[in-house]
Amino acid sequence: MISDNLRQIKANIATAANKAGRDPQTVKLVAVSKYVPIERIQEAVDAGQRLFGENYLQEAAEKIERLQGDISWHFIGHLQSNKAKQAASLFPMVETVDRLKIARALDNQASQLGKELSILIQVNVGREAQKSGVLPEEAPTLLRAIQAETNLKVCGLMTMPPFFDAPEKSRPFFRQLKELADELASKRLFTDNSHVELSMGMSGDYEVAIEEGATIVRVGTALFGSRM
Ligand SMILES: *Cc1c(COP(=O)(O)O)cnc(C)c1O
Repeated sequence: MISDNLRQIKANIATAANKAGRDPQTVKLVAVSKYVPIERIQEAVDAGQRLFGENYLQEAAEKIERLQGDISWHFIGHLQSNKAKQAASLFPMVETVDRLKIARALDNQASQLGKELSILIQVNVGREAQKSGVLPEEAPTLLRAIQAETNLKVCGLMTMPPFFDAPEKSRPFFRQLKELADELASKRLFTDNSHVELSMGMSGDYEVAIEEGATIVRVGTALFGSRM
């Protein structure tokens, strides 16, 4: 049952936060609902979940339209600049910005809509050739340019570390993202440098991510079951 899974995940979040000496309220759960049918998302809403993450714009557009009410959505998929317009219209938060061209396109659309748009910068901490994300050493330049050229609210960083079968193996990557965020905040490159969001951790490793400072965890399978 989705409601049981949700209860369990929230308990795990609280345990991990407490273990790290953090307030569990400082961790937001993004329920990743890609490929999940609307009826099952509705079940999660009925169980109290209000924040969802989607990877594909077409799919997200339909769900956002049909699931009205006090629900919020993060875009967590790969973004091409020709799709930025649609993403900026649909979502209050885009977690996967990794180049200036995308930021500019999002900003254009947001200002046309008179809408405040929040973003995270996706960082490729694992330096994997096939993964999106700015390399850590290129993040300061990207953030400076976004700060200078756009009105986007740059709220923090997001990452997807290399895939491992053991959650402990993700820990160094989460730690690296946290260290990078601290460095960027000390250079005052976020919109609010006293409150920086760190989106890291998925079904297999969100507890480790919380121990390392995650403020947003993105959990799909552990909540909705296998997407197969
Ligand atoms: C699918 C996805 C997730 C959720 O993964 P699970 O392992 O199912 O929890 C999280 N983040 C991103 C960016 C994803 O694409």
